Amino acid sequence: MNQKQRTQVVIIGAGPSGSVAAALLHQQHIDVIVLEKSTFPRFSIGESLLPACMEVIEQAKMLDAVTAAGFQFKDGAAFRYRDRYTAFDFSDKFTPGAGTTYQVQRGHFDKVLADEAQAQGVEIRYEHTVEAIECLDGKSVLTITDAQQQQYALEADFVLDASGFGRVLPRLLGLEKPSHLPPRQAIFCHVTDHIDVNRCEVEYDRNKILISVHPQSADVWYWLIPFSNGTCSLGVVAPPQWLAKYGDDSISILKQLVIEESGLAAVLAAAEYPSTAATIEGYSANVTQLATSNYALLGNAGEFLDPVFSSGVTIAMKSAQLAAGVLTRSFAGDNIDWQRDYAEPLMLGVDTFRTYVEGWYSGELQTVIFHPNPDPKIKQMICAILAGYAWDINNPFVAQSQRRLAVVAALCAD
Ligand SMILES: Cc1cc2nc3c(=O)[nH]c(=O)nc-3n(C[C@H](O)[C@H](O)[C@H](O)COP(=O)(O)OP(=O)(O)OC[C@H]3O[C@@H](n4cnc5c(N)ncnc54)[C@H](O)[C@@H]3O)c2cc1C
Repeated sequence: MNQKQRTQVVIIGAGPSGSVAAALLHQQHIDVIVLEKSTFPRFSIGESLLPACMEVIEQAKMLDAVTAAGFQFKDGAAFRYRDRYTAFDFSDKFTPGAGTTYQVQRGHFDKVLADEAQAQGVEIRYEHTVEAIECLDGKSVLTITDAQQQQYALEADFVLDASGFGRVLPRLLGLEKPSHLPPRQAIFCHVTDHIDVNRCEVEYDRNKILISVHPQSADVWYWLIPFSNGTCSLGVVAPPQWLAKYGDDSISILKQLVIEESGLAAVLAAAEYPSTAATIEGYSANVTQLATSNYALLGNAGEFLDPVFSSGVTIAMKSAQLAAGVLTRSFAGDNIDWQRDYAEPLMLGVDTFRTYVEGWYSGELQTVIFHPNPDPKIKQMICAILAGYAWDINNPFVAQSQRRLAVVAALCAD
């Protein structure tokens, strides 16, 4: 076999976290190999980005390619509940930094990132599936099946698991831990939207993700993520037992639920639906340990909370940025404590999003978001978090996320 059988870092998965981590490490002259079980482009859920991830894309030297790809511009998030509509403009936020981003077809987006990493010199082995790992003192040995169904071993000083919902190391090393969030189900598809904002009977802004709340069940919500080619990603999220009463034809369920939310139905009045919709259930997941001296878990391979604030790709990229920084220091000879240097800083932002996800489903956050007269300063602080700046400890709504949200929700409820 001609291919290398040893490297400094192996990355499992070429999604956003894998490609970004690979590019950042390669820029630091660290030898890295990415193993990806699929061929690209391949579908992935997770199509609405947050502005906070643009800084990571820029650091990975991928911003020009992403900008040139022609994705749908995004400058905020809009929310609708019954007759209430409210919008957050991401440029009007507490934390400095990018205020705009894109909504992306992930097949295309992930390929742009992976191609950029390759163009920078990263080796990506497509159709190479990681099957097993042995963690030894100071190195790991992975067993891989290649495109010809041949198995081989690859030795690495360190492994980054960027396998997303594949959750390779949590499965292989017994790290899985149930999420504290109750199971939810998403039904989704791409529609040809035919939205004409001039004729639309309700307020609509194509430059924002639209999150609509079911008028009778406030824990059921929809996403409408417009793309630049006249299509939208449309999805609904609900408890599985709540959805069960609608039968088992996913596209009929989705259409029926759109009819039940009259604001969304007005926006999608002329939409053309495909014949089927996809479903995904029980996606929230956690682990017992995010990193050791042998490996670190990036993005969804670690903890995945909930899709409501489109935080998944941003957390994935932030984890890649953090891990690449720590690994660079480690290879330079610094004494690294992966819990202190990686897991804890990453969890600061994850825990901020956790507060907002829990607050969304408890109703606290919806009380704040749909308040008719928001305090402008408080709105800017919450807006920064919705834009992905969940690691900014200067923002009081990050530093004391639970307490602050509870206080504001109580004031809004009054
Ligand atoms: C319903 C729903 C809606 C969502 N909406 C959003 C949203 O709007 N915005 C957002 O930011 N996030 C969203 N997310 C989250 C988003 O999907 C993920 O957070 C994001 O894709 C994680 O990126 P990643 O790089 O960690 O992994 P991925 O993008 O999943 O990439 C992992 C890669 O690893 C590869 N792989 C898996 N197993 C192996 C193996 N054994 N060997 C080699 N390769 C392997 C896979 O083929 C894949 O290419 C949503 C999630 C759900 C469930």
